[in-house]
Amino acid sequence: MINEKKRQELEKQGYRIVGNHSAVKSCLWQKHDLLDRGECYKARFYGVDSWGCVQMTPSLPFCNLRCIWCWRDTKFTLPEWQGPVDEPIFIIENSIKELNKYLVGFKGNKDVNMEKFEKSQNPTNFAISLAGEPTFYPKLPEMVAELRKRKISSFLVTNGTNPKMLERLKQDPPTQLYITLSAPDKETFTECCNPLVGDAWEKLMQSLKILSSFNSRTTVRLTLTKDHNMIRPEKYAGLIRIAQPKFVEVKAYMHVGFSRERLDEKNMPSSQEILDFAEKIAEHLDDYKIVDQKLDSRVALIAKNSDTKIKKI
Ligand code: SF4
Ligand code: SF4
Repeated sequence: MINEKKRQELEKQGYRIVGNHSAVKSCLWQKHDLLDRGECYKARFYGVDSWGCVQMTPSLPFCNLRCIWCWRDTKFTLPEWQGPVDEPIFIIENSIKELNKYLVGFKGNKDVNMEKFEKSQNPTNFAISLAGEPTFYPKLPEMVAELRKRKISSFLVTNGTNPKMLERLKQDPPTQLYITLSAPDKETFTECCNPLVGDAWEKLMQSLKILSSFNSRTTVRLTLTKDHNMIRPEKYAGLIRIAQPKFVEVKAYMHVGFSRERLDEKNMPSSQEILDFAEKIAEHLDDYKIVDQKLDSRVALIAKNSDTKIKKI
């Protein structure tokens, strides 16, 4: 599924391949946190441990969109699942093992916070969002359940084009479920996300509706790119009303990875522009307001109330 040349290329970028279709990568914020140089916005907003986070994907080679802001090599992904399906326990255990192997180098760094380093060997969170579309992995509900059994929280991000999997996740949802709302309307979605399937927008709309029926922590995330999808805040607000999420993250596109081949640095909104846009969205949502922001991550959090922290499992 992932040939040797691609594997080597990905490993050079810091990815570690797990089994047939999964990958793990230490996130920049995890490294910062191990050196006591700051935590990610999910640590600030929700109480996730950046030092204890496993950034991973169970479906590295599969995605049915080609978003212009994607930091991954979108030429490499296939629009639908094919090949063998690895077991959730194998993926979880080997993701942790590969991440620990990668982080072992920190042990020799005199600036590392050793207490955090020791604790990081037993991760507390899985960020299931590294690359590809995770809801294509057929055993995703079993994986989420297995993480809960191991007292590991799960933050899962989907592009919303697989409503059938959302229905399956409803019984035993991840700690926090995200849908990325990439555009305020179909035309902008098609232009920005270059879907490889004809009904991707319609499926995203179905997923927003399904999200409203979850009793768990749900989030609609906007990745805003100037001159592309950073338009029509009132339309975004209308779609957010359908999904009724607990949280809305209004976040800037970051000019990193492969997106630099498609976009310019000036497409990246400033933190002030993000705040202004979040204000405009919140104006159209009666019971929501901006409850927090993290300027260095260019992200604002909109919610119904400021009690946003996860309960540690
Ligand atoms: S939650 Fe996301 S940003 Fe924070 S440490 Fe994990 S992967 Fe990195
Ligand atoms: S849905 Fe996610 S993984 Fe797929 S192309 Fe868009 S940003 Fe990349």
